Amino acid sequence: MDPKSPCSIMRACGGCTALNRPYKKQLAAKQAAMEELFAELCEREGVAVDPIRGMGVTLGDPGKYPAPRGFRHKAATPFAPGKEGAVRCGFFERGTHKIVAVPECPVEAPGARQILNGIAREAERLHIPAFNEDKHLGLLRYAVVRCGWRTDQIMVTLVTAQRDLPHAQEFFEAVAALDPHIVAVAQNINGRPGNAILGEETRIVYGAECMRDQLLGCEFDISPTAFYQTNPQQTELLYRLAIDGMNLQQGDVLMDAYCGSGTIGLCAAKDAQDKGAGIMLLGVERNPAGIADARRNAGLNGLTRNAWFMADDATDYILDAADNNERIDVLSIDPPRAGSTPEFLEAACALKPRRITYISCNPVTQERDLHQLLDGGYRLLKITPVDMFPHTDHTETVAVLERR
Ligand code: SAH
Repeated sequence: MDPKSPCSIMRACGGCTALNRPYKKQLAAKQAAMEELFAELCEREGVAVDPIRGMGVTLGDPGKYPAPRGFRHKAATPFAPGKEGAVRCGFFERGTHKIVAVPECPVEAPGARQILNGIAREAERLHIPAFNEDKHLGLLRYAVVRCGWRTDQIMVTLVTAQRDLPHAQEFFEAVAALDPHIVAVAQNINGRPGNAILGEETRIVYGAECMRDQLLGCEFDISPTAFYQTNPQQTELLYRLAIDGMNLQQGDVLMDAYCGSGTIGLCAAKDAQDKGAGIMLLGVERNPAGIADARRNAGLNGLTRNAWFMADDATDYILDAADNNERIDVLSIDPPRAGSTPEFLEAACALKPRRITYISCNPVTQERDLHQLLDGGYRLLKITPVDMFPHTDHTETVAVLERR
């Protein structure tokens, strides 16, 4: 091991490939990659990619670029059986399904890894067998820990192959006792083969239904299976860039497509309201757990009368809106890695929102989709990379478009 390395398992772990690279160099490499990817679009539109917003720094800032630590507020582990009933946990070794033990992780929220390791210890003590992927035997498959950013609340989700566990109650209580900040423990049942972490059924086995966090001064309840950004500090920056790009006005209708727990749209509506502009928010998200959260979150932020959320496929929803010629003044898009669909984008152009903001966790699909929006009557005002995942080669981007 490199004695100066911040991580003892860096070589084996598949996570932070650039952990030993100075942060300024990491940001410069991401900036160069984004400039190359968006070169054609930027030339066509006469804009330049903004300098990447790193954690605590923007590329080009003078002085030191401290290496980010403890920014991942979601941590997860697979479990696998070891010798004599042992329950192993950690990260998969790069490119394999072999588990490397993780004593601590420098990029996760402090304490998260100790909880995951503690779960393995408790399962072992109570003879709850870890799941064997190849033989499809055993019970405990994964655990996910989510830690609040503005709050100190922690939520744990235990993924098991079956609902019934030996010594279940004792196990759940022991897990809840691993950290005094744990407010909820959920059990998710995933009996299916394959790599998907979560199964269909989820139940709360200890404490609250959700954990609470805050973003941009808004309160959010997040339930165990709803999407919530992993790096909330950078999420605030990402959302701020999108909200500034929306330029919302009194009476606007904002559509938040792929809205998760309603976070972007509600932050935008609250921001507009604070500036004296009441808006109407329509959110659409495929995951019903996200929509249940979003409705609750509208209430938590005093926006019940301004917000309406729908569990649906985003493409089906916007096609209906276009058929009915609904009024949409501003459209926010934040799709998964695959990007949006041609049908969604076509309907978006037909609805003629004044502004479109597009947040992407996969700029390659975003670049493809932006071409379609530009061909459909929009011009690109701004594109900003945000470093949500330091020490990896992932970059998030926010694009702001305006109707020509
Ligand atoms: N805007 C949210 C969520 C972004 S992640 C936030 O910032 O937290 C992308 C979201 O898109 C996920 O919640 C996922 O469940 C949802 N999603 C994926 N495919 C979808 C589809 N076809 N229609 C609607 N939502 C979809």
